[in-house]
Amino acid sequence: MTDIKSLTPDELRTQLTGAGFPKFRAEQVGGWLQKGVTEFGQMKNISGELRQFLESRYYISVATIEKKLVSRYDKTVKYLFSLNDGECVEAVIMHYKHGVSMCISTQVGCKMGCTFCATGKSGFSRDLAPSEMLAQIEAAQRDLKLRVANVVLMGMGEPLDNFDNVLRFIELVTSPQGLNIGARHITLSTCGIVPKIYELAQRKLPINLAVSLHAPNDGIRVRTMPVAKAYPMDVLLKACRDYFAATGRRVTFEYAMISGVNDSDAHARELAEKLGGMQCHVNLIPVNSVEGTGYKKSDLQRQQAFVNILTARGIAATVRRTLGSDINASCGQLKRNQLKEGGK
Ligand code: SAH
Ligand code: SF4
Repeated sequence: MTDIKSLTPDELRTQLTGAGFPKFRAEQVGGWLQKGVTEFGQMKNISGELRQFLESRYYISVATIEKKLVSRYDKTVKYLFSLNDGECVEAVIMHYKHGVSMCISTQVGCKMGCTFCATGKSGFSRDLAPSEMLAQIEAAQRDLKLRVANVVLMGMGEPLDNFDNVLRFIELVTSPQGLNIGARHITLSTCGIVPKIYELAQRKLPINLAVSLHAPNDGIRVRTMPVAKAYPMDVLLKACRDYFAATGRRVTFEYAMISGVNDSDAHARELAEKLGGMQCHVNLIPVNSVEGTGYKKSDLQRQQAFVNILTARGIAATVRRTLGSDINASCGQLKRNQLKEGGK
């Protein structure tokens, strides 16, 4: 069976005309898929023969809402979706002044094993297909009757460990025949898989790249992020500089502040030195406590002191506003609870 929503409109047309159906039929099918139908039976104006053909050869990826939590504070919505095979992923809708942002998953689980991350602790199951990334957005749009303006690949999974599918997703979601979300409204977050950063740079997509740094040196970084053993910080930061040189896009560094681990004044000074002269922005995130990690977030005073040291040294830095604090909106945690309850 072929995953119909992972095909580009051109591929779909070629396959259907190749099977003897006229071009306008392919366009009708494409139109229904764009509208977000979840079954071939909902394609009202296609012939019975075509419907049967589609049902025998293709399937439509659907994200079904298993759980939905809505924050009372800021209307942040967190979803646990099940996919066609019963695997579950998380996604979050956030309301910002500049529009609705959605954080989606790119894998079921993750292989990278970061010690502070709920997803990393749950292990890896499989990659998501491009259609399954789209399905998360479509399901939320349908449910909330809104348009997603910005997409962040910061849910479960490491996007650059699922490179081809993520790039195809970006091609599909930015397509005028798809959800038509501009590449400038897409942010890809990576733990720092250096060869893939270079591969991404070659594509010269106008997307935003976020790199999870979370430490000012390799000594601390390897303790929380095993990927740092393969790609030390100087190699990673060089890749980020080269990325900027190749694309002209400023890199954002994510830095989860963990009390007593990476949040001292000395750490801030060391970080500022490493990032000196770079076109970048540091996004400080008070770490979300995950059961079993023992990590606690830095207090407000620490956060401010850290920002001040970076900005005084010419590094743009802000503390990310916490949204959905009452529903534990950081990804991986809903699924972890479900696993504990005996789910998939
Ligand atoms: N795998 C990619 C994208 C998914 S994780 C990456 O690691 O960048 C999205 C972001 O959430 C990353 O910056 C990650 O480091 C961060 N994150 C994971 N667990 C967290 C936690 N408990 N508190 C704060 N940020 C966390
Ligand atoms: Fe994977 Fe990102 Fe979590 Fe690390 S932080 S385990 S790379 S999802």
